[in-house]
Amino acid sequence: MTLGGLAPKPPNPDKGPMALELNHAQMEVIRRHAAQDYPFECCGVMLGKANGVGKVVSEIVPLKNLRQDPARAQEWLPLDDPTRESGRNRFLIDPLEQLQVEKEARARGQDVLGYYHSHPDHPARPSIYDREHAWPRFSYVIVSVEQGIARELTCWVLDEKGETLCPEQVEVVG
Ligand SMILES: [Zn+2]
Repeated sequence: MTLGGLAPKPPNPDKGPMALELNHAQMEVIRRHAAQDYPFECCGVMLGKANGVGKVVSEIVPLKNLRQDPARAQEWLPLDDPTRESGRNRFLIDPLEQLQVEKEARARGQDVLGYYHSHPDHPARPSIYDREHAWPRFSYVIVSVEQGIARELTCWVLDEKGETLCPEQVEVVG
């Protein structure tokens, strides 16, 4: 994933493995967004607070996938191979929208805990592209969408070395 080079403050700078805590309604927002944007990838931000034990999500903010507007997306961040890469297998968050969401979150005392995106007709596993564009300590939720129906939801976090996206536990509460 790519956010135009903007790196927000990580949620838990010096803590070990944490679980991502979501409630049922928040899971539903992600699934619905993923199904709605099919066959394109959807994307969004997860806001909340890390409390030392877990990253507690308090808000899901769906964002536009700029790749659904290829001309504009190419201006921000050109794809290596537009014949193979598109809004169906890539997403790009509008840096201005990203900045605005972060600013509003901070004003309400919340942090960016991570990001979610969908994999239309592909498993909920990070691609090489996802790994290359991930930042340390953020949670990356991936939801697979098969034929328009949201299926498996997984979560990933970079390892210590920043080389591999490792599974992160998702706790559904409430
Ligand atoms: Zn992906």
